[in-house]
Amino acid sequence: MARPPQNCKSKPKYADGDVVHPYCSKRCASSARSNRPTAHRTKSAVPLCRIPGCSSRVYVGRSGGTGHYCSKAHLRLGTHGCICCRKASAIGPTCFCQSCGDEVFSVAPMIIEVPKDHERYKGVESQFRKKWQHNNNCPEVRAIYKIVGTAESLEKYEQYINKIEAKGNYASQGKTRGNENRRWHGTTRECNIGDKGVMEFCSDPSCSLCCIMKFSFDLTYSENAGMFGGGIYTTSTSSKSDQFSFNSCASGWKPMLLNRVVVGKGYRMTTPDAELTGPPAGYDSVLAEASDSGLNYDELVVYDNDAIRPSYLVMSTIFFVSITTNLCVKHWTQRFRKRAKVYPYCGRTCAKLAAKKKLVEEARLKVHNRPAPPNPPIHTDSHQARSEHGCVFCRAAPMSNASVLCQPCLDVAPDMAGILKVPEDHRNYKGVEKQFKQSWRHETVCPEVKAIYKIVVTNAIMGPYQEYLESVEAQWGFVAQGKPRGNENRRWHGTRRKCTLGDPGNEALCADPGCSLCCIIRESFDIKYYKMATSWGRFGRGIYTSSTSSKCNDYSMNMGAESEWKTLLLNTVIVGNGKKLINDDISLTGPPPGFDSILAEVVPGGALNYDELVVYKNEAIRPSYLVVYSGAPTPECPRARLGEPESSLSGVCLEITE
Ligand SMILES: [Zn+2]
Ligand SMILES: [Zn+2]
Ligand SMILES: [Zn+2]
Ligand SMILES: [Zn+2]
Ligand SMILES: [Zn+2]
Ligand SMILES: [Zn+2]
Ligand SMILES: [Zn+2]
Repeated sequence: MARPPQNCKSKPKYADGDVVHPYCSKRCASSARSNRPTAHRTKSAVPLCRIPGCSSRVYVGRSGGTGHYCSKAHLRLGTHGCICCRKASAIGPTCFCQSCGDEVFSVAPMIIEVPKDHERYKGVESQFRKKWQHNNNCPEVRAIYKIVGTAESLEKYEQYINKIEAKGNYASQGKTRGNENRRWHGTTRECNIGDKGVMEFCSDPSCSLCCIMKFSFDLTYSENAGMFGGGIYTTSTSSKSDQFSFNSCASGWKPMLLNRVVVGKGYRMTTPDAELTGPPAGYDSVLAEASDSGLNYDELVVYDNDAIRPSYLVMSTIFFVSITTNLCVKHWTQRFRKRAKVYPYCGRTCAKLAAKKKLVEEARLKVHNRPAPPNPPIHTDSHQARSEHGCVFCRAAPMSNASVLCQPCLDVAPDMAGILKVPEDHRNYKGVEKQFKQSWRHETVCPEVKAIYKIVVTNAIMGPYQEYLESVEAQWGFVAQGKPRGNENRRWHGTRRKCTLGDPGNEALCADPGCSLCCIIRESFDIKYYKMATSWGRFGRGIYTSSTSSKCNDYSMNMGAESEWKTLLLNTVIVGNGKKLINDDISLTGPPPGFDSILAEVVPGGALNYDELVVYKNEAIRPSYLVVYSGAPTPECPRARLGEPESSLSGVCLEITE
């Protein structure tokens, strides 16, 4: 076996390919030169090399920084080798070594996760980022999978390339064979394939993602689909494909496909032609170009199933567009989409009903020579009830017990997150507005409420809260005491907003990880954001809320775009058995034993000016409403409201104090 290393005698020698150096690392070697014993990190602190089966510790640089591999040879293997076994070099243009390749193709179709530090991952991720051209922040790539089609499918694709190459001799012009390019395609997924650890295809024939990955694209599903006729649409612009990427399942990630597409001789077009059934004679594909008059983004359309193969599945964080722009104008259900087209209605029945209504309206116009009033006057008790207690989305049926939506809307509800405007004459609007005004206890003039939004969270976010609520209720039995389940209360929280979410016309969450408001609405509160903070707050490491809206106002800040509006979150908080405290205790990391939360109380001569409710579990709180109110101090204001908070320690809420 290997001789012990010459200097430290504790670690195996550094092997760079076939050359074995006398020392375990460069750092060790330089220590030897300077005649000092090497101060190695303790073994347990240095992780093992990432190559499976390699028992060496990772390389430790001169400065003490560690890599992820033991040697340059293994670094090369990890970043360029077979993505499957990570133990052997990949063959030619494939991602696999010989034996993995054989095995993979024998069980294909399948998907294999690409390691995050592999060059393939980096290449695909960079194409995704560079081609994100829409005017919003690029989502984060969370996972990339290599799609392996059957050998038969690949063979047909290769034959097509050969045919196109023979016609156009692209290789001799310094292009790829067949003028092959990589383009994006967004589609819908019914199952959770691509989510962390999910690599099994579903058998649902309506799961477009699984179908495409298993069988590749099929023109029969795209008859008279888009602006350039019945073809298969791809684009180089990832942000455009993102608009066609949807989940029918609950997930914080969404899928996009990166495809190999044989462009051959592309016909350039700047104006749509929906009648096309193939490329113009003498061409192999259509290259739709962005222009001032026509398209906003490029498209590449092919009209042959064998001109395209899905190559990578890219999973990225969901960018939350306004909920309502995703929904049928009549129902709380997703709009009907077919390839490049999005319809305003959820389906045919819905569109027909709307058309019928339009006909009735036109007929009415002929007879009466005036249109119906825009909002039918509320004249009966049942209409009144609907308006005040109706589903905040359709307003056609009463709200269900557990939601601001009606049962019919809930039955078809897609699992989504975002904000939904509450009508001003709605009971819930009035209730939230009243709580905002009544809890404005500072001697300043209470600002005017501009808008109230219901915060809609995904089932995945709501689940742990409901579970916790039930467990607290089971422990204490609050309902029997005439209290709400789990002793749930509504409390305010002010936070930082980088975008203008909630301002008139903006209902789309931003993707900026520094925008606390959007982060909380998307993922709820998270104690882990406290890690960097130097001080936790008066009651330690918890999530702070208050019943006093004017106190939380001090923590509501616009950090980015200028806005005349400010925002507060109204949250449902599981108080459970709350421990009342009148003095600070910054050492707390949880409530005292036997309690679920801290209720900081205001008493004469006490330390606090305003109440606080602190919980120490993420699942004990969920954002419920977003209140948008006038942010400018009013002239009558006795003291500037936007001045310093009362104490830098109290109610730091979620933010990291810089
Ligand atoms: Zn050494
Ligand atoms: Zn190694
Ligand atoms: Zn392999
Ligand atoms: Zn599926
Ligand atoms: Zn509908
Ligand atoms: Zn409804
Ligand atoms: Zn934001």
